[in-house]
Amino acid sequence: KLQMREKTMIKLDDAYDENNIFAKILRGEMPSITLYEDEKTLAFMDIMPQATGHCLVIPKEPAVTFLDLSEDSAAAVMATAKKVAAAVVRAMEAPSFMMAQLNGSAAGQTVPHYHMHILPRHDGLELEFHARAPEDMAVLNETAEKIRTQI
Ligand code: 5GP
Repeated sequence: KLQMREKTMIKLDDAYDENNIFAKILRGEMPSITLYEDEKTLAFMDIMPQATGHCLVIPKEPAVTFLDLSEDSAAAVMATAKKVAAAVVRAMEAPSFMMAQLNGSAAGQTVPHYHMHILPRHDGLELEFHARAPEDMAVLNETAEKIRTQI
């Protein structure tokens, strides 16, 4: 339990760490459940979802926070987020959704590669804890398939 709560310090002036988990996913060294990919971005399922359908959009450009992101990559992330969010809303039959992204550990960022969270929201359904409990792979794959068919 203690280990789950241990946080890596991420500061706004940190150099990019090529060994962070999302860099490994981008290099294909770590598996992920892909929803969408293009030249500049990748969208995949969050393995510790705060809601069913919680996913992430990342730029391929190495950037720790929003401040490190080029305008070109920022635009590409937003374009992909728009596609994926629309698909998540349809797939999860969500009346609402949230987009969020955290910059630096004081803001709650835990992975030092820029990412946009997309979270479907339903009335009366509270979010699960942030980055706490891994979801069953079968459930993640099933949810991903529903989202992919809507992209
Ligand atoms: P942050 O706290 O940096 O805003 O969000 C990091 C997100 O990445 C969390 O929601 C967490 O559940 C997710 N995450 C952490 N490690 C992995 C991983 O190895 N694979 C995937 N797909 N998501 C991860």
